[in-house]
Amino acid sequence: MKAGQDFDVVIVGGGMVGAAVAALLATQRATARLSIAVLEPRPVAPPLADEPFDIRVSAVSRGSQRLLEHVGAWPAIAARGAGPYRRMVVWDAAGSAGGEGSISFDAADLGEPDLGHLCENRAIQAALTERAMELGVTLLRANVEGLELGAEAAQLALGDGRRLSAALVVAADGADSAIRGMAGIDTKGWAYGQHGVVANLQPALPHGETAYQRFLPTGPLALLPLADGRVSIVWSTTQAEAESLLALDDAAFGMRVTEASCAVLGELAASGPRGAFPLRLIHALEYTRPRLALVGDAAHAVHPLAGQGVNLGFMDAAALAEVLGQSVATGADAGDPRALRRYERWRKAENLPAMAMFDGLKRLFSNSDPVLSWARRSGLSFFDAAAPVKRLLMRRALGTVGDVPAIMRR
Ligand SMILES: Cc1cc2nc3c(=O)[nH]c(=O)nc-3n(C[C@H](O)[C@H](O)[C@H](O)COP(=O)(O)OP(=O)(O)OC[C@H]3O[C@@H](n4cnc5c(N)ncnc54)[C@H](O)[C@@H]3O)c2cc1C
Repeated sequence: MKAGQDFDVVIVGGGMVGAAVAALLATQRATARLSIAVLEPRPVAPPLADEPFDIRVSAVSRGSQRLLEHVGAWPAIAARGAGPYRRMVVWDAAGSAGGEGSISFDAADLGEPDLGHLCENRAIQAALTERAMELGVTLLRANVEGLELGAEAAQLALGDGRRLSAALVVAADGADSAIRGMAGIDTKGWAYGQHGVVANLQPALPHGETAYQRFLPTGPLALLPLADGRVSIVWSTTQAEAESLLALDDAAFGMRVTEASCAVLGELAASGPRGAFPLRLIHALEYTRPRLALVGDAAHAVHPLAGQGVNLGFMDAAALAEVLGQSVATGADAGDPRALRRYERWRKAENLPAMAMFDGLKRLFSNSDPVLSWARRSGLSFFDAAAPVKRLLMRRALGTVGDVPAIMRR
């Protein structure tokens, strides 16, 4: 660390992605000796064993699982309950699950044990934070209110009046990133005019470790299998319908979800909290500035229909750690501009096509035009019979092939 600097790396935002950056840098030999701080105003505690699963869960890909294993966070997440999903069935509103207008994916077709795991966000965040702290990362309960980027260092002004300097600031402060705004980085994107309603429900039939997604004209409804036998739903719909779903009593809400899912798992019983999140597409036009790198939702936020938001963020975290490791090993400081440019080129080239695909799927399916509906159903049935295409799609979703960071690779 240079004289006068408080830390080599300050990570703003200790959500799942910021905590992953911290744990990765502290684990990797080349960067383990850097002094690293995470600034997070709302750190989470690990969930208690008898607490029910929270409504915020994520489908964690195999590549992300490897990252979590690599830093030693996976055992705590698995012990809390990571529900594998081995099959996935996706169907159009006018089709039927497993019948016409549907496509099914099975991990067995790839010789894989599963397609991923459903994990609680707070369990992931807490496990990563705990590992980072065990490895010497400083966690400061603070939010950032000011940023100055210089050629030699970045200066941060904290909400409590403190000032910190670092060779590199990593912005992991989410889709509304204040750091991105303070650095003057513009974004492209749009609001989908949809909200994602989330809740955990008990199905009458066993979920069989299968994830279901039905595309309704107002947006997709996903039923994701949890380790406790319930399903986590993500129902993307208009704001008006989201508000009305939140206002229903448990019995009426359960009935609406049962109907909307064509009772694919029988009756769904609702109890416990529900929430709704506005859905947006956001892409930062630049991922780096001198002494600054953006990761996770601060760089890109996507529609949840493909369950890939945090998986893309974990790839950012691993890519950033990899390029910084290589750069620091040559004697460069943690904010070396060449390393930051490599990171930006790498992740933009991967994130942009993925974002375009999720956005295209969202548009293709949120449309009740009869010709498009027919084309969708025919297309799904056609691809369902095209085994090589399905295998390719499954491998991409596993996050272990393509230009992925070394620790996530097959
Ligand atoms: C309904 C829904 C379902 C989803 N399902 C999936 C899924 O199945 N799979 C998947 O991969 N993704 C999913 N996602 C996306 C996923 O939740 C996000 O991509 C992920 O949470 C982003 O993590 P992050 O750490 O980048 O940002 P966040 O989770 O937004 O974390 C940002 C952190 O920064 C902190 N912060 C904010 N401002 C400041 C500041 N000024 N100073 C300091 N700290 C600050 C916040 O307190 C927060 O902890 C879903 C999203 C939604 C809305």
